[in-house]
Amino acid sequence: MLVDEVKETIRQVPDFPKKGIQFLDITTGVKNYDAFKAMIDFLYNEFKDKNVNYVAGIESRGFVFGAPLALMLGAGFIMIRKPHKLPAETISETYDLEYGSDTIHMHADAIKEGDNVVVVDDLLATGGTATAACKLVQKAGGNVEAAAFPIELTPLKGADKITKETGVRVVSMMKYDLD
Ligand code: AMP
Repeated sequence: MLVDEVKETIRQVPDFPKKGIQFLDITTGVKNYDAFKAMIDFLYNEFKDKNVNYVAGIESRGFVFGAPLALMLGAGFIMIRKPHKLPAETISETYDLEYGSDTIHMHADAIKEGDNVVVVDDLLATGGTATAACKLVQKAGGNVEAAAFPIELTPLKGADKITKETGVRVVSMMKYDLD
């Protein structure tokens, strides 16, 4: 499936979860086998020669893309989760939202020094979430090969934020001129 055909499978819902947000709904994309396969294949082709040890998926839509990608790459899968979900000792990063802040966690023993990790989420908007995820992996001693997304909202400049704050490069399949 071509990139533009995959884009057509992603439903756009205006004013969700609040007025003024154009929500890109991946449920209609992953329900379509050909579109889902095209998104995973795109990511696989980006990283198949990069000696990736782990794919770290960001809860919860990052799990949908990260887990199949990990299997295809022959890599393990790591869950980056919201507070109070992971059972063992964790490390965390807090980041700013438009109003307030959010925190993400990863098991303290998930990564060892030098592991090569791809961070995955469904969509890159402002980059706050993915920047925090990259910092978590780096704090644990891992190398972040890239932060990767099926969807990027380019006007929000999330890729610039990630690279500026962490030095990590960004890979995305479908660019949307939406903010
Ligand atoms: P950000 O930290 O601003 O890059 O936001 C990224 C997270 O918020 C991702 O986990 C996305 O799933 C979600 N998100 C932000 N904006 C949208 C949007 N317009 N449509 C769908 N999901 C979004």
